Amino acid sequence: MYMMESGSKEEEFITSLIRDYYKSTKGIITDRIAAREFGAGTFERKIAYRHLHFRNESDLYAFLRERAPAYVSYSVAYYNRPEARPMSNKGWLGSELIFDLDATDMHLKCQAEHGRSWVCMNCFDLVKAETVKLIEDFLIPDFGFSGKELEINFSGNRGYHVHVKKDSVLQLSGIARKQISDYISGNGITAEALFPTMGRRGVKLIGPKPEDKGWRGKMARNFISDMEKGQENLEALGIEHQTARNLYNKRALISMGIKNGNWDMVYIKNKAEFWKKILASQAISQSDRIDKNVTKDPTHLIRMPGTIHGETGLVAKKIASVSELSAFEPMSEAIAFKKGDIGIMPKAKKEFIMAGQTFSTAEGEKATLPVYAGVYLALKGLASIYMI
Ligand SMILES: [Zn+2]
Repeated sequence: MYMMESGSKEEEFITSLIRDYYKSTKGIITDRIAAREFGAGTFERKIAYRHLHFRNESDLYAFLRERAPAYVSYSVAYYNRPEARPMSNKGWLGSELIFDLDATDMHLKCQAEHGRSWVCMNCFDLVKAETVKLIEDFLIPDFGFSGKELEINFSGNRGYHVHVKKDSVLQLSGIARKQISDYISGNGITAEALFPTMGRRGVKLIGPKPEDKGWRGKMARNFISDMEKGQENLEALGIEHQTARNLYNKRALISMGIKNGNWDMVYIKNKAEFWKKILASQAISQSDRIDKNVTKDPTHLIRMPGTIHGETGLVAKKIASVSELSAFEPMSEAIAFKKGDIGIMPKAKKEFIMAGQTFSTAEGEKATLPVYAGVYLALKGLASIYMI
């Protein structure tokens, strides 16, 4: 995270923008305010204070307008006494089930080029597609949640948060949450589990059918669609040239067999690597780091929807439905500071699109940009603000 000089004019200016945003914005209401623990942060520390408690909406608004914090987070847990310390004194009542998808956990090639802090259009598109996949391929079909039971929020920076608030998930233990995280990440699924007769000579290769539930069906459907996509696609998955050609040429016949669970016609040399790749293409990329994996932790504090993210100046925007998520453009729809222009001194060459307009900056060449674009660069550490 970029460290803006504490007490600097730049910091004062952005804080005043945040205050204006909270003063002029209505409807940043969250449910169950009185039962949640809140945290607030400075530009230097995302959670500088926690164990905060607000009795109602007007208390929360008063805090946001007075303090104009760079970050606001709230607990995914509900408590009897949210302000109590230590944690064991809070009186835990239950926790939402949370999925936190972040472009930096997806091992994207572009991230290696532009660094972890920057978010290019490719990052935005892929993390959105990953979130749609989580919902449409896992949460709805495998866990039986309906779209209405899911709350989707843009994180304010590089990804999305999905909250499940249904009664049946609130009491889940940390272990149960870890199992859910493992399930969507495909952890612990082996090729042998999917193909019980694999490696046995003279025995038919039995495997999953497309209509099977859960991972079995996903793997069968993925394999069929990978064959349909063509020989090159199969080679990209690690299948050698000649085998890929055979599979592609016989795909109609092979697919017919797989529909009955018969995989005998599928002969692949380096099976282990191949299945790992097919599995990885379907699994959801959550953070492998235990301290970052939000799903597992029922006491986690997460960005509060509707608040400003101090590394971007964007709003952690609530998205109305799964279908709206597909069309959501963070760099247009999550803009908070809509008025005026500012002068900036760029520290790097960058090109980006905000509100449908392309901006390019060159190191050391002063530029005048809309406030939202200048602040975005300044908070990313890529420009300093002048003329304020
Ligand atoms: Zn990128």
